[in-house]
Amino acid sequence: MYNSFLIKYGEIGIKGDNRHIFEDALAKRIKTVLGRIEGEFTVRKTRGRIYVNCGGDWNYDETVTQLTHVFGVVGICPVMIYKTGDMEKLKADMVDYVSKEHAGEKATFKVKARRVDKTFPLTSMEVSAALGEAILQNFPDLKVDVHEPDILFDVEIREEVYIYSKIIPGPGGMPIGTAGRAMLLLSGGIDSPVAGWMVAKRGVTIDAVYFHAPPYTSERAKQKVVDLAAQLAKYTGPIRLHVVNFTDIQLYIYDECPHEELTIIMRRYMMRIAEHFAREEGDLGLVTGESIGQVASQTMQSLVVTDAAASLPVYRPLIGFDKNDIVDISRKIGTYETSILPYEDCCTIFVAKHPVTKPLLHIIERSEGKLKEKIDALVQEAIDTAELVIAK
Ligand code: ATP
Ligand code: MG
Repeated sequence: MYNSFLIKYGEIGIKGDNRHIFEDALAKRIKTVLGRIEGEFTVRKTRGRIYVNCGGDWNYDETVTQLTHVFGVVGICPVMIYKTGDMEKLKADMVDYVSKEHAGEKATFKVKARRVDKTFPLTSMEVSAALGEAILQNFPDLKVDVHEPDILFDVEIREEVYIYSKIIPGPGGMPIGTAGRAMLLLSGGIDSPVAGWMVAKRGVTIDAVYFHAPPYTSERAKQKVVDLAAQLAKYTGPIRLHVVNFTDIQLYIYDECPHEELTIIMRRYMMRIAEHFAREEGDLGLVTGESIGQVASQTMQSLVVTDAAASLPVYRPLIGFDKNDIVDISRKIGTYETSILPYEDCCTIFVAKHPVTKPLLHIIERSEGKLKEKIDALVQEAIDTAELVIAK
């Protein structure tokens, strides 16, 4: 019944001279996601608006789902397009639209007509009034309320007539690829996929790194992380996921360092290796799923010590979030069901009963000194043997 969508975008509308860069990125991204499904779609940019016209063998639900995965999209308005004609035709089209879209509804409404085609003989105000009257005559359950209507009918008279009244919310944010790249430390947990999603939502392209410890962690645990990356990729496009074998480094730390410091020292080596791949990819920061106080390695003191291992900025978009807020987002973005699968994680296997909660940098550095003999070679080997998976 529809044949088009009007894409509403918020913030990118205010980017001044760079506006077209953001609009182009958005239009391009929309084309890309629609390329994943059946149908012939044309994406048109006109006067600060983006329209998606749909043809061929297209499916409404699939199309909406794809569009809700595009950062930068604030709202998706399903539009019915009618051929232009005189005022009588326009009224008939309006009645047709209402009968299809709002049949039997008891509600208040307002008509907001816009005459983009100035050759149309009536003014926008006159058109609005005439269409309002046509609706009142045909739908006794609909009443006018110009201040707070339940339904706002938008009518645009251009080369054709566009009528819409519904807005499906989009994710908001900025089009992917407009804000540089970052390296996400992606584990199989609930938090890090959400952290990556939040940074990506600001337009940042995401690369990822996952540390596993075979045979202590299984192939299924790795597949879970690949699946999480693939779920994120619905929003971000293909993700370059570096899978790093961390076993020997972990065993070496386990043998040489105090056990209550294992997690923090491990975390520091993760940062260093992540940073190596980040520099290779041209990433401008590291992203983690940490939030203050969640576990011992996420106290303020631990974060100081972790940060000291990295020279790139470390972004922690969940820093002030409670777990249930994070869970809500993970459900919304579709990573939750995968995240809660019970496979083992490399950090939990070597974890100490009583990890330090207030580590001091100089003490941790002194412990790391005990790794002098072999650690550089082990780090190098972990880098050299890393596997690159393109998750999409
Ligand atoms: P998550 O739910 O993301 O696993 P978490 O609450 O379990 O987080 P930690 O295990 O302390 O927290 O990990 C903190 C952060 O360190 C993670 O959010 C992630 O960014 C990174 N991280 C932890 N383990 C790994 C791993 N095996 N591979 C890659 N990154 C990891
Ligand atoms: Mg975890």
